[in-house]
Amino acid sequence: MSDTDGKKPLGLSGGALSGRVNQSFSRGRSKSVVVETKRKRVVVPKPGTQSAAAQNAEGGKREKSVPDAELERRLRALQNAKAREVEDEQRRQQEEKDREDERARRRAEAEAKEREEREREENLRAKEEEETRRRAEDEARRKAPAAAPARATAPSPKDVVSDPAAVEAAAAATPGSRGANKPLPPPTRRKAEDDDRAGRARTAERDSERRSGKLTVSQALTGGEGGRQRSMAAMKRKQERQRQKAMGGMVDREKVVRDVQLPETILVSELANRMAERAADVVKSLMKMGMMVTQNQAIDADTAELIIEEFGHRVQRVSDADVEDVIVSVTDHAGDLQPRPPVITIMGHVDHGKTSLLDRIRKANVVSGEAGGITQHIGAYQVTTEGGAVLTFLDTPGHAAFTSMRARGAHVTDIVVLVVAADDAVMPQTIEAINHAKAAKVPMIVAINKVDKYEANPDKVRTDLLQHEVVVEKMSGDVQDVEVSAVTGQGLPELLEAIALQAEILELNANPDRPAEGAVIEAQLDVGRGPVATVLVQKGTLKQGDIFVVGEQWGKVRAMENDRGERIKEAGPSVPVEVLGLNGTPEAGDVLNVVATEAQAREIAEYRHQAAKDKRAAVGAATTLDQLLAKAKADKNVAELPIVVKADVQGSAEAIVQAMEKIGNDEVRVRVLHYGVGAITESDIGLAEASGAPVIGFNVRANAPARSSANQKGVEIRYYSVIYDLVDDVKAAASGLLGAEIRENFIGYAQIREVFKVSGVGNVAGCLVTEGIARRSAGVRLLRDDVVIHEGTLKTLKRFKDEVKEVQSGQECGMAFENYEDIRKGDVIEIFEREEIERSLS
Ligand code: GDP
Repeated sequence: MSDTDGKKPLGLSGGALSGRVNQSFSRGRSKSVVVETKRKRVVVPKPGTQSAAAQNAEGGKREKSVPDAELERRLRALQNAKAREVEDEQRRQQEEKDREDERARRRAEAEAKEREEREREENLRAKEEEETRRRAEDEARRKAPAAAPARATAPSPKDVVSDPAAVEAAAAATPGSRGANKPLPPPTRRKAEDDDRAGRARTAERDSERRSGKLTVSQALTGGEGGRQRSMAAMKRKQERQRQKAMGGMVDREKVVRDVQLPETILVSELANRMAERAADVVKSLMKMGMMVTQNQAIDADTAELIIEEFGHRVQRVSDADVEDVIVSVTDHAGDLQPRPPVITIMGHVDHGKTSLLDRIRKANVVSGEAGGITQHIGAYQVTTEGGAVLTFLDTPGHAAFTSMRARGAHVTDIVVLVVAADDAVMPQTIEAINHAKAAKVPMIVAINKVDKYEANPDKVRTDLLQHEVVVEKMSGDVQDVEVSAVTGQGLPELLEAIALQAEILELNANPDRPAEGAVIEAQLDVGRGPVATVLVQKGTLKQGDIFVVGEQWGKVRAMENDRGERIKEAGPSVPVEVLGLNGTPEAGDVLNVVATEAQAREIAEYRHQAAKDKRAAVGAATTLDQLLAKAKADKNVAELPIVVKADVQGSAEAIVQAMEKIGNDEVRVRVLHYGVGAITESDIGLAEASGAPVIGFNVRANAPARSSANQKGVEIRYYSVIYDLVDDVKAAASGLLGAEIRENFIGYAQIREVFKVSGVGNVAGCLVTEGIARRSAGVRLLRDDVVIHEGTLKTLKRFKDEVKEVQSGQECGMAFENYEDIRKGDVIEIFEREEIERSLS
C-alpha cells in the first residue's frame, strides 16, 4: 500500500458527493444507490463476479490515472447494491447461527463462571486489537482511498483470498468479522461504544441509513460487514452481565458451601439436588472419574463423597437407616432382665419324624391342664415340662424355614433339636441341618427317634454323627442325646428336660418392660381378618394398641391370639402370638418393632420398601467370590471366607474341603459351611445367602430352582472341574495375587431328545437347544442329573442335514461328541466358551 502514500483520499471519505436514486434490478428488487451524473463511457461489469470486485479494487488504485471518475463511482454504486444483498443473506445466516450458539451457550451455562473469566481477558485483548485494527484501518483509509469500494463490498473470505490487496483491505475494514470468528467473545460496553462509533462512520459511508433507519447494537458490533453478527438478546445479556460485574466489583456470585447429607447410596440426580448443582455437571464429574452413569442411577456413598468434595461442599454421612433411629434401642440393664423360655426348632432328614415329634410333644403337654383350649396352628406353640419349664417350639420344621429366617436377620432359634431316625442313618439333610445349626452357632440336642422300632440302632446314629463332628454325650462329647419315639411317646419328658437344661446353660434373658421387639414366624392374608402374622416376641411386651413397624409393613395391634386360640391383651418374651391390625402382609423372618407414632411407623415402612426395591435392583452386582475376599481382607473382623461346596462324588467333595481348609494366611481363612454330593439345591443357596458365602459346584450344576434363587438373592455359584483351579483361585484371591482368570461363559444348554446311531459318525444326539445357543466351536459338557459326566468338544453340529456353526434357542439340532459315545436321552449338553479376563481385588 506504500505506493498509495501521499495520494489524495477519495472514495468513502468523499461520500458526501454522492446523490441517491432508486434503482430497479432484474430480480425485482429496488435499491437506493449512490450515483453521480451520467457520462458517456459506461462500462458496467457483470455484477456479482469476483473479478469485478478485484478489478474494482485494482481500478481504485489506478483511479488517479483514470480521467473519468464516473466509472469508478458507478462501479462502487453497483458493488454497494450487491454487497447489501450479500450482507442481508449473510446476516440471516448469521442470525440463524447465533441462535444456535445461544442454545449451545445455554447448555454450557454451568461453565459460565469460568468462561467469564476468560472472556474478560479476551475482551481486553479484543479491545486492544480493536484499537490497533481501527488505527490501521483509518490509516489504510487515508493511505488507500481507492480501496474503499473493495471494502464496501464486504468481500466474503472466499472472495478476497484471490487478491492480496483486497484481503488486506478487508481485514482492516472488518473488525467485527475477526472477533466473530472467536468463540463468543462478549465485547465490553466500551467496545460496543467504540464499535458503535466506528460502525456509524462506516455505515454512513456505505449508505446504510436506508437499511433500517435505526442503528442497532448488533449492526454496531459487526459493522454490518457481513461478518458474524450477534442476536440482540445475546448482546443484552452480555451487557447485563458486565453491568452486574461492574456494580459488584469483580466479585463473582459467592459459592455456597452446603452440608450434603449422604446416605449409603444416592441417585445422581438426588446428589446434584442436595448440592444444588446441575445434574449434568455431576454426571460429567463422574465420567471424569471413569464412572459412566446416568442421572437416574444410584452411586455408592464413597463415590458420592468424592464428588461432593470436588464441588466444594461438605459431606455429612448419614446412615441409610437414620429414619429407623426412632426405633428405641433400649439398653437393658442386668437388673431388668428376667429369664425367658427358650425357642426351639426341630430339624432333620425327611421322614425321620420331625412332624410326628412336634405333634406328640404338643398333645402331651399343651392340652393336659389347659382345659377347653383348641389347639391352633399359628406357627409356634408353648409347652410346659413336668419340671415346670416353659418351652417355645417353632412349628415349621426343617432348615428351609430356619435359614430363610436367619437370612432375613431374625435370630429366633435358641436350640436346635436334630431328629435322626434310629432305623435309618445320618442322611444328607441331617448333615445340612448340622451345618445350618453350626453356621448359626446354635446349640444342638440330638433326638434319636423311632427307637420303638425293632431295627432301631441308636448307637450307629451316634457313631455316624462323629464323622460330622457331632460328639454326643454318650460318646463323651458335650452334645446331649435322647432316645425317643414319637409314636409311643417314650423319652419325650427326657427330651424336654434336656432342652430345659440346655436353656438354663444358655441363661436366656429378656427385659419384659420395654417396647416390644419380635420376629414374624408366619404371615398370611386371611380373607376374613385381613393380614395376619404370628409374631414371636423376643424382647419387651407386645400390647394391644401398640403401633409397630414390621419389615416393610406397619400396623397397630388390633387383637392378639395365642396358640390356643385365646384372645390376649399382651405377650411377653418368647411368647408366640397371632397379631391382627397390619396394613400389609409381612414375610417370615421380618422383625417387628413397636414405635411411638403412626407417622414414624409409616415412614420407616416406606423407607424400607424403597430400600428393598433398591436392593433388588442392585442384586446383579451382589456377592462374588472376589468381593467376599476383598471384604474379608478389608474388614479385620471378617477374616473368614465361608463357602458351600457341592461335588459329584464324596471323594472330590472331601478333597476340596481338605484343600480349602489348608488354605489360609493371617488375613483370610476359608471355612466350609457345608459340603455335599449332588446338584446345587435351593437349600444350598439359602445357606449361602444366610452366611454371605459363594457356592462352589465341582462337576455339578445348580438345578433350575436353585439357579433362579441364586439369581434373585445374588448368591454366586462357581463351577469348577479341576480341584487345582479352585484351590488356585481361592489361594490367589486370599493372597491378593490375582492374575488373569479364565472365565467360562455358559452360552447355551441343549436337551438330548433322542440318540441315533449313525454309521461312520457314531452316536448322534438329537437335541433341542433350550437356552442360549449351541456353537460348533464351543466347549461342551454332558450333564446327567446335574452332574458333569464328560467334557470335550463337538465332532459335529447339524441342523437338518447341514453342518452349521450355530443353532439358536428353540431349534432342534444334531450333535456328536469328539471321542465320546455314552450319550443318553434326557442328558443335558452344556455349551460354554472360555474367556480370559483380568481380575483385581480392589
Ligand atoms: P418328617 O418328614 O421328618 O416330618 O417325618 P414325619 O413326622 O412325617 O414322619 C415320617 C414317618 O415316620 C411317619 O409315617 C411317621 O408315622 C413315622 N414315625 C415318626 N416317628 C416315629 C417313631 O418314633 N416311631 C415309628 N415307628 N414311626 C415313626
